[in-house]
Amino acid sequence: MQSTLDQLVAMSLRLGAPENDYVILGEGNTSARVDNETFLVKASGHSLPSIGASGFVRVRFDKALALLENEGDHAETGVKDGLMAATVDNDAGLRPSVETTFHALCLTMGGANFVGHTHPSIVNAVLCSQSAEKAFARPLFPDQIVVCGPAPAFVPYVDPGAPLALAIGDAISRYSDEYGMPPKVILLQNHGMIALGKSAQEVESITNMFAKTARTLLGTFAAGGPQYMTPENVERIFTRPDEHYRQKVLGLK
Ligand SMILES: [Zn+2]
Repeated sequence: MQSTLDQLVAMSLRLGAPENDYVILGEGNTSARVDNETFLVKASGHSLPSIGASGFVRVRFDKALALLENEGDHAETGVKDGLMAATVDNDAGLRPSVETTFHALCLTMGGANFVGHTHPSIVNAVLCSQSAEKAFARPLFPDQIVVCGPAPAFVPYVDPGAPLALAIGDAISRYSDEYGMPPKVILLQNHGMIALGKSAQEVESITNMFAKTARTLLGTFAAGGPQYMTPENVERIFTRPDEHYRQKVLGLK
């Protein structure tokens, strides 16, 4: 767990670095899988730009995910108490971030080992615009596909907390059905982005590349508007993982 925690702290500090403009103050939160039962998530009241090991709290997956069932039964205070009850080895009495439940989903059904949720100004410039969903729906350049996947998953605006977590769960499952793999980027309208990585390094790469995608996209609007890659071009760079498998089974690869 020490090495996971060390990697999580280093990743959080880099995502929080002021020159990136991905978060300010207490914005954003990060998490990492420890084992099949537990994960580490940022505690409330800590800031990514200055966080240390004591800013993370260990939480049980089963108890965090159970808070999403019968969501209507839980008043906001019920969820807060439930999150406290989901912690382990929490002598310091840290309170898990209110966004802990969506981290639990990204680390289970989302297939990630590390998760970084940020509010990059450049990405939010598009997510808070009238063309939020459409503008990001198709890729602009090959490295975007290689690092961030063939498309991001998009979640229309919903209230933070359990409603947002449930909408994120729906988006992950729809995306997985469509692409044969979970998303690497989840976009939250009028809010921010989530990077889902196998490693801490991958979360940073995805966030950096998606911020570059947003800068590029906004630049295209000053030069006649985006010229998206064609579906054929996208297809040559991205083939579904289950397609690889099918081709292998059929002896085509
Ligand atoms: Zn947020």
